[in-house]
Amino acid sequence: MKRLVLLLLWLCSTTILFASVAVLQKAEIKNNELRLKFDRGYNKGDIRHFTLNHPYREIFDIPNARLKSSRVSRGLKSSHCRSIRISQYKSKTVRVVLETGRGYGCTPYRPLFAYNSYHIPLPPFKVGKSVKHTPKRIKTKVVVTRSKHPKKTKKVASKSNAYVIDTPKNVYRRGKGELIVIDAGHGGHDSGAIGGGKMEKTLVLQIAKRVEKHLRRKGYRVYMTRRTDKFLKLPQRTRIADRKDARIFVSIHANSVPKRKRNKAQGIETFYLQKTRDAKSQRIAARENRAVLKGAGTSLSKKVIIDSVLNGPKIIESNKLAIDVQRHILANVRARYRGVVDGGVRHAPFWVLVGASRPSILVEVGYISHPRERKRLFDPKYQELIAKGIADGIQSYLNNREREIEL
Ligand SMILES: [Zn+2]
Repeated sequence: MKRLVLLLLWLCSTTILFASVAVLQKAEIKNNELRLKFDRGYNKGDIRHFTLNHPYREIFDIPNARLKSSRVSRGLKSSHCRSIRISQYKSKTVRVVLETGRGYGCTPYRPLFAYNSYHIPLPPFKVGKSVKHTPKRIKTKVVVTRSKHPKKTKKVASKSNAYVIDTPKNVYRRGKGELIVIDAGHGGHDSGAIGGGKMEKTLVLQIAKRVEKHLRRKGYRVYMTRRTDKFLKLPQRTRIADRKDARIFVSIHANSVPKRKRNKAQGIETFYLQKTRDAKSQRIAARENRAVLKGAGTSLSKKVIIDSVLNGPKIIESNKLAIDVQRHILANVRARYRGVVDGGVRHAPFWVLVGASRPSILVEVGYISHPRERKRLFDPKYQELIAKGIADGIQSYLNNREREIEL
């Protein structure tokens, strides 16, 4: 009975909370987002988001809300918007208008654990000046505003100049400044695999730098474990990711096999950390692990560390990330090159992935031992496609996670 009373009380209080008017206390521009802060939780599903043309505007109608004072909306300026306007549109509706000139797949969100905040990302491009990345494709954009009541769900279609970054199937969202650690394997005295006089450490650094460029374009922050030909111990690499509180860790490597097999083994493989019985994965892991086993890290019990990370949810996430990255690399390279082999998503006990407490993968971009693949791998055009594939995969993974959280 006591429980029932408590439940009723709780229900009443939440109804009152959401039914009463939320006061918009603060509006500020931070990290290229317009951040609204209310005095209480609001009902996200009721916010109506739609776009209007001539000039292009993103509009948000927030019902059951009022401005604390007209001062809240003053002085909001950004080089990424022609204007930002907030007004008391109706007696109980606050309207936010962003005049951006063109669409950009704007996806507002309520930050986790901040039920009184509403964040609206501003465009990745600046307005007024020449724009760095021109839209690749003109496409009909559909903005779906999710509502608590299915009938109310609104679809606003505009045949405007919507900004589409990637494949037509997916309207990708802009990265919200999340930090990605890109780790170019080996370096310094550790040259990694060698094939035809070419070194893995050189190749993976070239590709890593390209990945960095693509990720930054998408709005992510990137930390490179190395930018030069220097040696880093393997545990140092993931420690960086933890210290920087990165969202994702991606290590880039190239594969190789002994001479007698060099014409056979080829293709792209993406790994995540897990114990395996697969002999091939074990061999690759053994080769990549060589550097650390020689180093100081051996005083730690390998088994203890591996076991400690194997049971976490990170494995599922790393697996999902690996699938997205592998899929996008293949889609990118196969659009231009024939006969690229899909080595698949595999798991193996890579040391570089041990100890990173975030989704972590290792991409083997190809076999440096295979004559044709080696030639491609050192071709800037091919490198560019691989790098774009890795960046697209990361973006796809993060967008999917965000959607899961919102649902
Ligand atoms: Zn390697």
